[in-house]
Amino acid sequence: MAKSLAIRFLTEVKPRLLLKFIFGAGLGNLRALRAFEKRIKRGLPFFPPFVFISVTQRCNLRCRGCWAIGAKQPVDMERKLLQHIVSESRRQSCRFFGILGGEPLLLEWLPDFFMHNQSSYFQLFTNGHLLTRGIAAKLQASGNVSPLISIEGLEQSYADRRGTRHGFDQALNALNICQEHKLVTGVAVSVSKGNFNDVVRIDFVDEMACRGAHYLWYYIYRPSGQDPNFEDALDDAQVRTLRQFIVDERVRCKSLVIVDAYWDQYGNALCPAAMGVSHHINAHGDVEPCPPIQCSDCRVNASGDVTQTIAHSEFLRSFRERVPTLTRGCVLMDHPQYLHQLAHDYAALDSSGRDTFFNELDERAPMRCHDYQGEPIPETALAYKIAKKYWFFGFGAYG
Ligand code: SF4
Repeated sequence: MAKSLAIRFLTEVKPRLLLKFIFGAGLGNLRALRAFEKRIKRGLPFFPPFVFISVTQRCNLRCRGCWAIGAKQPVDMERKLLQHIVSESRRQSCRFFGILGGEPLLLEWLPDFFMHNQSSYFQLFTNGHLLTRGIAAKLQASGNVSPLISIEGLEQSYADRRGTRHGFDQALNALNICQEHKLVTGVAVSVSKGNFNDVVRIDFVDEMACRGAHYLWYYIYRPSGQDPNFEDALDDAQVRTLRQFIVDERVRCKSLVIVDAYWDQYGNALCPAAMGVSHHINAHGDVEPCPPIQCSDCRVNASGDVTQTIAHSEFLRSFRERVPTLTRGCVLMDHPQYLHQLAHDYAALDSSGRDTFFNELDERAPMRCHDYQGEPIPETALAYKIAKKYWFFGFGAYG
Protein backbone atom coordinates (compact mmCIF):
# COMPACT_ATOMS: atom_id res chain seq x y z
CA MET A 1 0.00 0.00 0.00
CA ALA A 2 1.31 3.46 -0.93
CA LYS A 3 2.55 5.54 1.99
CA SER A 4 0.42 8.51 2.99
CA LEU A 5 1.67 11.92 1.97
CA ALA A 6 2.37 12.85 5.59
CA ILE A 7 4.66 9.81 5.99
CA ARG A 8 6.28 10.54 2.63
CA PHE A 9 7.01 14.13 3.61
CA LEU A 10 8.58 12.98 6.90
CA THR A 11 10.65 10.22 5.29
CA GLU A 12 11.46 11.51 1.81
CA VAL A 13 12.02 15.26 2.28
CA LYS A 14 14.84 16.86 4.23
CA PRO A 15 13.29 18.37 7.43
CA ARG A 16 14.76 21.84 6.69
CA LEU A 17 13.19 21.75 3.20
CA LEU A 18 9.87 20.52 4.56
CA LEU A 19 9.73 23.40 7.05
CA LYS A 20 10.54 25.91 4.32
CA PHE A 21 7.77 24.42 2.16
CA ILE A 22 5.23 24.56 4.99
CA PHE A 23 6.09 28.15 5.90
CA GLY A 24 6.97 29.45 2.42
CA ALA A 25 4.44 27.75 0.16
CA GLY A 26 1.79 26.91 2.80
CA LEU A 27 1.55 29.72 5.34
CA GLY A 28 3.19 32.14 2.92
CA ASN A 29 0.34 31.69 0.46
CA LEU A 30 -2.28 32.00 3.16
CA ARG A 31 -0.71 35.26 4.23
CA ALA A 32 -0.68 36.59 0.67
CA LEU A 33 -4.33 35.60 0.16
CA ARG A 34 -5.47 37.27 3.37
CA ALA A 35 -3.58 40.44 2.43
CA PHE A 36 -5.21 40.31 -1.02
CA GLU A 37 -8.66 40.03 0.50
CA LYS A 38 -7.88 42.97 2.81
CA ARG A 39 -6.81 45.07 -0.19
CA ILE A 40 -10.07 44.28 -1.95
CA LYS A 41 -12.18 45.05 1.13
CA ARG A 42 -10.38 48.35 1.84
CA GLY A 43 -10.34 49.44 -1.81
CA LEU A 44 -6.55 49.59 -1.77
CA PRO A 45 -4.50 49.47 -4.99
CA PHE A 46 -4.83 46.10 -6.69
CA PHE A 47 -1.99 43.57 -6.47
CA PRO A 48 -2.38 39.80 -7.02
CA PRO A 49 -1.39 37.35 -4.26
CA PHE A 50 0.41 35.12 -6.78
CA VAL A 51 2.92 36.34 -9.33
CA PHE A 52 4.13 34.07 -12.12
CA ILE A 53 7.34 35.23 -13.76
CA SER A 54 8.81 33.99 -17.05
CA VAL A 55 12.55 34.50 -16.72
CA THR A 56 13.35 33.58 -20.33
CA GLN A 57 11.75 33.26 -23.77
CA ARG A 58 14.34 30.62 -24.69
CA CYS A 59 13.71 26.87 -24.47
CA ASN A 60 15.58 23.69 -25.27
CA LEU A 61 12.37 22.11 -26.60
CA ARG A 62 9.82 23.00 -29.28
CA CYS A 63 6.49 21.69 -27.94
CA ARG A 64 3.35 21.91 -30.02
CA GLY A 65 0.78 24.33 -28.62
CA CYS A 66 3.24 26.25 -26.43
CA TRP A 67 2.81 30.00 -26.12
CA ALA A 68 6.36 30.59 -24.85
CA ILE A 69 8.37 29.86 -27.98
CA GLY A 70 8.73 31.56 -31.34
CA ALA A 71 9.82 35.01 -30.19
CA LYS A 72 11.78 36.68 -33.00
CA GLN A 73 14.51 37.81 -30.56
CA PRO A 74 14.07 35.70 -27.45
CA VAL A 75 15.30 37.44 -24.31
CA ASP A 76 16.24 36.49 -20.76
CA MET A 77 15.00 38.54 -17.81
CA GLU A 78 17.79 40.47 -16.13
CA ARG A 79 18.59 39.27 -12.62
CA LYS A 80 18.13 42.77 -11.17
CA LEU A 81 14.62 42.94 -12.65
CA LEU A 82 13.66 39.57 -11.16
CA GLN A 83 15.08 40.71 -7.82
CA HIS A 84 13.10 43.94 -8.00
CA ILE A 85 9.84 42.15 -8.83
CA VAL A 86 10.30 39.73 -5.92
CA SER A 87 11.25 42.49 -3.47
CA GLU A 88 8.39 44.76 -4.52
CA SER A 89 5.85 41.90 -4.45
CA ARG A 90 6.98 41.02 -0.94
CA ARG A 91 5.84 44.50 0.12
CA GLN A 92 2.35 43.25 -0.85
CA SER A 93 2.81 40.15 1.34
CA CYS A 94 3.64 37.83 -1.56
CA ARG A 95 6.00 35.05 -0.43
CA PHE A 96 5.50 32.45 -3.18
CA PHE A 97 6.52 32.91 -6.80
CA GLY A 98 6.05 30.73 -9.89
CA ILE A 99 9.19 30.76 -12.06
CA LEU A 100 8.53 29.81 -15.68
CA GLY A 101 10.01 30.12 -19.15
CA GLY A 102 10.70 28.86 -21.84
CA GLU A 103 13.03 26.72 -19.78
CA PRO A 104 14.16 28.61 -16.64
CA LEU A 105 17.16 26.32 -16.03
CA LEU A 106 18.79 27.79 -19.12
CA LEU A 107 19.67 30.68 -16.79
CA GLU A 108 22.81 29.62 -14.94
CA TRP A 109 22.41 32.30 -12.24
CA LEU A 110 18.93 31.12 -11.19
CA PRO A 111 19.96 28.63 -8.43
CA ASP A 112 22.16 31.35 -6.91
CA PHE A 113 19.21 33.76 -7.10
CA PHE A 114 17.11 31.32 -5.07
CA MET A 115 19.93 31.02 -2.53
CA HIS A 116 19.97 34.82 -2.10
CA ASN A 117 16.19 34.99 -1.56
CA GLN A 118 15.81 32.70 1.39
CA SER A 119 12.68 34.40 2.78
CA SER A 120 10.70 33.68 -0.40
CA TYR A 121 9.59 30.36 -1.86
CA PHE A 122 9.77 29.44 -5.53
CA GLN A 123 7.92 26.91 -7.69
CA LEU A 124 10.21 26.08 -10.61
CA PHE A 125 8.25 25.11 -13.76
CA THR A 126 10.72 22.98 -15.76
CA ASN A 127 10.77 20.30 -18.44
CA GLY A 128 13.50 18.67 -16.32
CA HIS A 129 15.93 18.04 -19.15
CA LEU A 130 18.53 20.40 -17.61
CA LEU A 131 17.89 19.35 -14.01
CA THR A 132 21.20 17.66 -13.25
CA ARG A 133 22.47 16.34 -9.91
CA GLY A 134 24.57 19.51 -9.66
CA ILE A 135 21.49 21.74 -10.03
CA ALA A 136 19.50 19.57 -7.61
CA ALA A 137 22.28 19.89 -5.02
CA LYS A 138 22.07 23.69 -5.33
CA LEU A 139 18.28 23.63 -4.98
CA GLN A 140 18.65 21.44 -1.91
CA ALA A 141 21.19 23.85 -0.43
CA SER A 142 18.88 26.85 -0.84
CA GLY A 143 15.91 24.74 0.27
CA ASN A 144 13.23 27.20 -0.90
CA VAL A 145 12.45 25.70 -4.31
CA SER A 146 9.99 23.05 -5.40
CA PRO A 147 10.64 21.78 -8.95
CA LEU A 148 7.40 21.22 -10.90
CA ILE A 149 8.39 18.86 -13.73
CA SER A 150 6.23 18.74 -16.86
CA ILE A 151 5.47 15.15 -17.84
CA GLU A 152 3.23 15.52 -20.86
CA GLY A 153 2.23 11.89 -21.24
CA LEU A 154 3.94 8.53 -21.46
CA GLU A 155 6.53 7.37 -24.01
CA GLN A 156 4.62 7.99 -27.24
CA SER A 157 2.20 10.71 -26.21
CA TYR A 158 5.10 12.58 -24.57
CA ALA A 159 7.13 12.37 -27.78
CA ASP A 160 4.15 13.55 -29.85
CA ARG A 161 3.76 16.70 -27.75
CA ARG A 162 7.39 17.42 -27.06
CA GLY A 163 8.70 16.41 -30.44
CA THR A 164 11.58 14.55 -28.80
CA ARG A 165 11.86 10.75 -28.47
CA HIS A 166 14.14 10.69 -25.44
CA GLY A 167 12.42 13.47 -23.54
CA PHE A 168 10.22 11.19 -21.47
CA ASP A 169 13.21 9.38 -19.97
CA GLN A 170 14.93 12.69 -19.25
CA ALA A 171 11.85 14.02 -17.47
CA LEU A 172 11.58 10.82 -15.38
CA ASN A 173 15.29 11.04 -14.65
CA ALA A 174 14.79 14.59 -13.35
CA LEU A 175 12.05 13.28 -11.05
CA ASN A 176 14.44 10.60 -9.82
CA ILE A 177 17.19 13.17 -9.17
CA CYS A 178 14.76 15.34 -7.15
CA GLN A 179 13.80 12.27 -5.10
CA GLU A 180 17.49 11.52 -4.45
CA HIS A 181 17.99 15.11 -3.23
CA LYS A 182 14.94 14.97 -0.97
CA LEU A 183 13.25 17.96 -2.62
CA VAL A 184 9.51 18.72 -2.42
CA THR A 185 8.64 17.87 -6.01
CA GLY A 186 5.65 18.17 -8.28
CA VAL A 187 4.61 16.86 -11.66
CA ALA A 188 2.56 18.95 -14.08
CA VAL A 189 0.64 17.53 -17.01
CA SER A 190 -1.47 19.45 -19.51
CA VAL A 191 -4.14 17.01 -20.58
CA SER A 192 -4.93 16.80 -24.28
CA LYS A 193 -6.57 14.34 -26.65
CA GLY A 194 -3.16 12.81 -27.38
CA ASN A 195 -2.23 11.95 -23.79
CA PHE A 196 -5.71 11.63 -22.23
CA ASN A 197 -5.68 7.83 -22.05
CA ASP A 198 -2.16 7.85 -20.60
CA VAL A 199 -2.54 10.41 -17.84
CA VAL A 200 -6.20 10.34 -16.77
CA ARG A 201 -5.80 7.00 -15.07
CA ILE A 202 -5.10 5.69 -11.57
CA ASP A 203 -1.81 3.99 -12.42
CA PHE A 204 -0.38 7.23 -13.82
CA VAL A 205 -1.16 8.97 -10.50
CA ASP A 206 0.34 6.10 -8.51
CA GLU A 207 3.41 5.90 -10.71
CA MET A 208 4.13 9.61 -10.33
CA ALA A 209 3.85 9.22 -6.54
CA CYS A 210 6.17 6.20 -6.57
CA ARG A 211 8.70 8.13 -8.65
CA GLY A 212 8.78 10.93 -6.10
CA ALA A 213 6.04 13.44 -6.92
CA HIS A 214 4.43 14.94 -3.82
CA TYR A 215 1.83 16.82 -5.86
CA LEU A 216 0.36 16.36 -9.33
CA TRP A 217 -0.96 19.42 -11.13
CA TYR A 218 -3.51 18.74 -13.86
CA TYR A 219 -3.74 21.44 -16.50
CA ILE A 220 -5.97 21.41 -19.56
CA TYR A 221 -4.13 21.79 -22.86
CA ARG A 222 -4.65 25.30 -24.28
CA PRO A 223 -3.64 25.40 -27.94
CA SER A 224 -1.46 28.52 -28.19
CA GLY A 225 1.46 30.09 -29.93
CA GLN A 226 2.79 29.60 -33.46
CA ASP A 227 1.83 25.91 -33.68
CA PRO A 228 -1.41 25.66 -31.69
CA ASN A 229 -2.48 22.15 -32.83
CA PHE A 230 -6.17 22.78 -32.05
CA GLU A 231 -7.05 19.16 -32.89
CA ASP A 232 -5.32 18.05 -29.68
CA ALA A 233 -7.63 20.07 -27.41
CA LEU A 234 -10.06 18.16 -25.19
CA ASP A 235 -13.75 18.03 -26.04
CA ASP A 236 -16.39 18.84 -23.44
CA ALA A 237 -17.05 15.18 -22.52
CA GLN A 238 -13.33 14.66 -21.87
CA VAL A 239 -13.17 17.77 -19.68
CA ARG A 240 -16.10 16.44 -17.68
CA THR A 241 -14.43 13.01 -17.38
CA LEU A 242 -11.19 14.67 -16.23
CA ARG A 243 -13.09 16.68 -13.59
CA GLN A 244 -14.81 13.53 -12.28
CA PHE A 245 -11.49 11.66 -12.27
CA ILE A 246 -9.79 14.40 -10.23
CA VAL A 247 -12.65 14.44 -7.70
CA ASP A 248 -12.54 10.63 -7.35
CA GLU A 249 -8.73 10.49 -7.13
CA ARG A 250 -8.76 13.05 -4.33
CA VAL A 251 -10.81 10.55 -2.31
CA ARG A 252 -8.74 7.48 -3.28
CA CYS A 253 -5.16 8.71 -3.47
CA LYS A 254 -3.57 9.66 -0.14
CA SER A 255 0.03 9.63 -1.28
CA LEU A 256 0.12 12.90 -3.18
CA VAL A 257 -1.88 16.14 -3.57
CA ILE A 258 -3.85 16.61 -6.80
CA VAL A 259 -3.89 20.26 -7.85
CA ASP A 260 -6.08 22.17 -10.29
CA ALA A 261 -6.65 25.90 -10.77
CA TYR A 262 -9.96 25.64 -12.64
CA TRP A 263 -12.81 24.82 -10.29
CA ASP A 264 -14.16 25.87 -6.91
CA GLN A 265 -15.43 23.44 -4.26
CA TYR A 266 -18.78 23.14 -6.04
CA GLY A 267 -17.16 22.28 -9.36
CA ASN A 268 -17.92 25.69 -10.89
CA ALA A 269 -15.33 26.95 -13.37
CA LEU A 270 -13.08 29.85 -12.41
CA CYS A 271 -10.41 31.89 -14.18
CA PRO A 272 -7.50 32.80 -11.88
CA ALA A 273 -6.58 35.88 -13.95
CA ALA A 274 -10.17 37.17 -14.05
CA MET A 275 -10.37 36.73 -10.27
CA GLY A 276 -7.14 38.64 -9.94
CA VAL A 277 -5.46 35.95 -7.85
CA SER A 278 -2.60 35.68 -10.29
CA HIS A 279 -0.98 37.66 -13.07
CA HIS A 280 2.07 36.94 -15.21
CA ILE A 281 5.22 38.98 -15.90
CA ASN A 282 7.12 38.00 -19.04
CA ALA A 283 10.89 38.15 -19.59
CA HIS A 284 10.65 41.75 -20.83
CA GLY A 285 8.71 42.81 -17.73
CA ASP A 286 5.34 43.07 -19.51
CA VAL A 287 2.49 42.34 -17.10
CA GLU A 288 -0.10 40.03 -18.67
CA PRO A 289 -3.31 38.47 -17.26
CA CYS A 290 -1.73 35.01 -17.56
CA PRO A 291 1.04 33.31 -19.58
CA PRO A 292 -0.94 32.38 -22.74
CA ILE A 293 -2.62 35.82 -22.98
CA GLN A 294 0.30 37.67 -24.50
CA CYS A 295 -0.76 41.27 -24.56
CA SER A 296 -0.13 44.03 -22.09
CA ASP A 297 -0.47 47.76 -21.47
CA CYS A 298 2.22 48.01 -18.80
CA ARG A 299 5.83 46.99 -18.26
CA VAL A 300 7.78 46.84 -14.99
CA ASN A 301 11.47 47.76 -14.84
CA ALA A 302 14.23 47.31 -12.30
CA SER A 303 13.82 50.75 -10.73
CA GLY A 304 10.08 51.51 -11.10
CA ASP A 305 7.18 51.02 -8.67
CA VAL A 306 5.91 47.54 -9.55
CA THR A 307 2.83 47.87 -7.35
CA GLN A 308 1.69 51.14 -8.94
CA THR A 309 2.47 49.89 -12.44
CA ILE A 310 0.20 46.86 -11.98
CA ALA A 311 -2.46 48.76 -10.03
CA HIS A 312 -2.74 51.40 -12.75
CA SER A 313 -3.09 48.96 -15.66
CA GLU A 314 -6.42 49.74 -17.32
CA PHE A 315 -6.25 46.57 -19.41
CA LEU A 316 -5.79 44.30 -16.38
CA ARG A 317 -8.52 46.16 -14.47
CA SER A 318 -10.96 45.84 -17.37
CA PHE A 319 -9.99 42.18 -17.80
CA ARG A 320 -10.92 41.49 -14.15
CA GLU A 321 -14.13 43.52 -14.42
CA ARG A 322 -15.40 42.36 -17.79
CA VAL A 323 -14.32 38.77 -18.32
CA PRO A 324 -16.27 37.31 -15.34
CA THR A 325 -19.45 38.88 -16.73
CA LEU A 326 -18.86 37.04 -19.99
CA THR A 327 -17.57 33.59 -19.01
CA ARG A 328 -16.55 31.49 -16.01
CA GLY A 329 -14.24 29.62 -18.33
CA CYS A 330 -11.16 30.59 -20.32
CA VAL A 331 -11.73 33.73 -22.38
CA LEU A 332 -8.73 32.83 -24.56
CA MET A 333 -10.54 29.63 -25.53
CA ASP A 334 -14.21 30.60 -25.58
CA HIS A 335 -14.11 34.31 -26.59
CA PRO A 336 -10.81 35.01 -28.44
CA GLN A 337 -12.20 37.79 -30.63
CA TYR A 338 -13.73 39.52 -27.61
CA LEU A 339 -10.32 39.33 -25.96
CA HIS A 340 -8.76 41.02 -28.98
CA GLN A 341 -11.35 43.79 -28.82
CA LEU A 342 -10.77 44.27 -25.10
CA ALA A 343 -7.02 44.55 -25.69
CA HIS A 344 -7.67 47.06 -28.45
CA ASP A 345 -10.04 49.13 -26.28
CA TYR A 346 -7.40 49.41 -23.53
CA ALA A 347 -4.36 49.85 -25.76
CA ALA A 348 -2.76 46.54 -24.80
CA LEU A 349 0.10 45.66 -27.16
CA ASP A 350 1.27 42.28 -28.43
CA SER A 351 3.85 41.04 -25.87
CA SER A 352 4.49 37.62 -27.41
CA GLY A 353 7.67 38.57 -29.22
CA ARG A 354 6.16 36.93 -32.34
CA ASP A 355 4.09 39.99 -33.35
CA THR A 356 1.33 37.57 -34.31
CA PHE A 357 -0.71 37.21 -31.10
CA PHE A 358 -3.66 39.30 -32.29
CA ASN A 359 -3.77 37.52 -35.64
CA GLU A 360 -3.73 34.25 -33.76
CA LEU A 361 -6.71 35.45 -31.71
CA ASP A 362 -8.63 36.46 -34.84
CA GLU A 363 -7.98 33.09 -36.46
CA ARG A 364 -9.05 31.05 -33.43
CA ALA A 365 -12.48 29.44 -33.44
CA PRO A 366 -14.19 29.68 -30.03
CA MET A 367 -13.78 26.40 -28.08
CA ARG A 368 -15.07 25.27 -24.74
CA CYS A 369 -12.50 24.65 -22.03
CA HIS A 370 -12.82 23.89 -18.30
CA ASP A 371 -16.31 25.39 -18.03
CA TYR A 372 -17.81 22.02 -18.94
CA GLN A 373 -21.49 21.58 -19.73
CA GLY A 374 -24.05 20.03 -17.41
CA GLU A 375 -24.29 19.89 -13.65
CA PRO A 376 -21.13 21.01 -11.81
CA ILE A 377 -19.21 18.15 -10.17
CA PRO A 378 -18.48 19.17 -6.53
CA GLU A 379 -15.51 18.13 -4.43
CA THR A 380 -16.23 15.17 -2.15
CA ALA A 381 -12.90 14.82 -0.32
CA LEU A 382 -13.13 16.95 2.87
CA ALA A 383 -9.60 18.36 2.78
CA TYR A 384 -10.05 19.61 -0.78
CA LYS A 385 -13.51 21.02 0.00
CA ILE A 386 -11.97 23.08 2.81
CA ALA A 387 -8.94 24.09 0.74
CA LYS A 388 -11.09 25.25 -2.14
CA LYS A 389 -13.58 26.93 0.16
CA TYR A 390 -11.03 29.11 1.92
CA TRP A 391 -8.26 29.44 -0.60
CA PHE A 392 -9.69 29.03 -4.07
CA PHE A 393 -13.10 30.55 -4.49
CA GLY A 394 -14.39 33.46 -6.62
CA PHE A 395 -13.16 36.31 -4.39
CA GLY A 396 -16.35 38.07 -5.47
CA ALA A 397 -15.36 38.03 -9.15
CA TYR A 398 -18.42 36.03 -10.20
CA GLY A 399 -20.90 37.74 -7.88
S1 SF4 B 1 -7.67 33.24 -19.27
FE1 SF4 B 1 -7.61 31.03 -19.48
S2 SF4 B 1 -5.44 30.47 -19.37
FE2 SF4 B 1 -5.66 32.55 -18.55
S3 SF4 B 1 -5.91 32.27 -16.35
FE3 SF4 B 1 -7.95 32.38 -17.23
S4 SF4 B 1 -8.51 30.26 -17.58
FE4 SF4 B 1 -6.30 30.31 -17.30
